Amino acid sequence: MIDRRDLLKITALGTLLPTAVRPAAGDDDSGLRERLVAAQASPVLRRDRLPDPIVIDTVELLNKDDQFFVRIRSTDGVEGIALTNKRVIRSIYPMLPALVMPHFVGKDARDLDALIEGVFMRGHNYKWQGLGFWSCVAWVEFAILDLIGNHVGAPVGELVGDRIRDRTAIYYANGDRTSDAAAVVDQLEELIAISGARALKFKLGARMHSTDASTQRDFELIPLARKRLGDEVTLFTDSNSSFDIPLAVRTGKLLQAHEYGFFEEPVQFDHFEETKAVADALDIPIAGGEQEYSMRRFQWLIEHGALDIVQPDLLFFGGFVRSIRVARMAEAAGLRVVPHMSGFGLGSLHVLHFASVVPNSLRYQEYKGDKDGLPYEVIGTGKPFRSIDGEIEIPSGPGFGVRFDPDYMRQLRPVRT
Ligand SMILES: [Mg+2]
Repeated sequence: MIDRRDLLKITALGTLLPTAVRPAAGDDDSGLRERLVAAQASPVLRRDRLPDPIVIDTVELLNKDDQFFVRIRSTDGVEGIALTNKRVIRSIYPMLPALVMPHFVGKDARDLDALIEGVFMRGHNYKWQGLGFWSCVAWVEFAILDLIGNHVGAPVGELVGDRIRDRTAIYYANGDRTSDAAAVVDQLEELIAISGARALKFKLGARMHSTDASTQRDFELIPLARKRLGDEVTLFTDSNSSFDIPLAVRTGKLLQAHEYGFFEEPVQFDHFEETKAVADALDIPIAGGEQEYSMRRFQWLIEHGALDIVQPDLLFFGGFVRSIRVARMAEAAGLRVVPHMSGFGLGSLHVLHFASVVPNSLRYQEYKGDKDGLPYEVIGTGKPFRSIDGEIEIPSGPGFGVRFDPDYMRQLRPVRT
């Protein structure tokens, strides 16, 4: 029987790490916990590359129509900008000025690691820990990284690691759960046509539950997609917690038979024991983590072999500093990491910079097209980033390496809460 770790080697998930150290169920890897704790503790921001203080003067929340931005200025008059995810922020934006933004005013941006820890401990903020709180922290962190990058003329990746990639392949994610199997494969073919993607992901189940109809569709779609798209395309699937253990295992075995690359959130995402039970029962790599906001719970998932591919969301989990700690934990356990990404707020841009420095990154980064439709250009190209032949060039300009249209930015107004 093929071991799950061997499957990671032979599927197109990326070059193999030197040694897959993830223990099989029941193995005693007494050093793993210590390695995971050490991986969380080491500094992320490369202070050695930042000789001079960068003092944060103002942190502002700006708005036009349904779009929100965080803008940070240093006492030297340099700016950092973060576009937020418009679908997320409209429900939670008062947390930014109330809980998060004041913590950063007057601080040295080079203390970013400590500032992220500090905002969690400020007042009663720890009680608000969750996707909303950490998303607010992430937007401020993105703006700080952009600010630091603009100060020193370096892309975000070089502030948090060593740039090891200038481009990355993408997997195009399809979100359709309502069309029939043939229509979904039509859509996947269209995504290949517009992007050149060599990897795709599609949905299974009925989102957080399954029905007889969704199961029938899944069992038609899984073989059909492989048959029509061919053996050269890497295929991933995501059930968004739709199954119980028996249906997850049945579905997973069908995915294995058709050589799928990973199976994301097979059972309820916060039911860790069930996730581990499915992982133990299947050879296909199990992916998950997009709703996780706790570093310790990521440690549990990694330590207990519940996940093979770790998917922190750079926004929901609180930004680059925290997500790189998760990537380091995954690396310490011999696992791959690929961020989850919702698409809005230039989510792909963050994913690209993350991939530029994370050695144990999956070969393919999640991609959902440009959902914002805002006027911006990649510095140096004069155009938005886009997938050509299934790959995207990672911006190399300062900060996030993009520039929003100045006429558009002048229309933004401060948000009063
Ligand atoms: Mg997902």
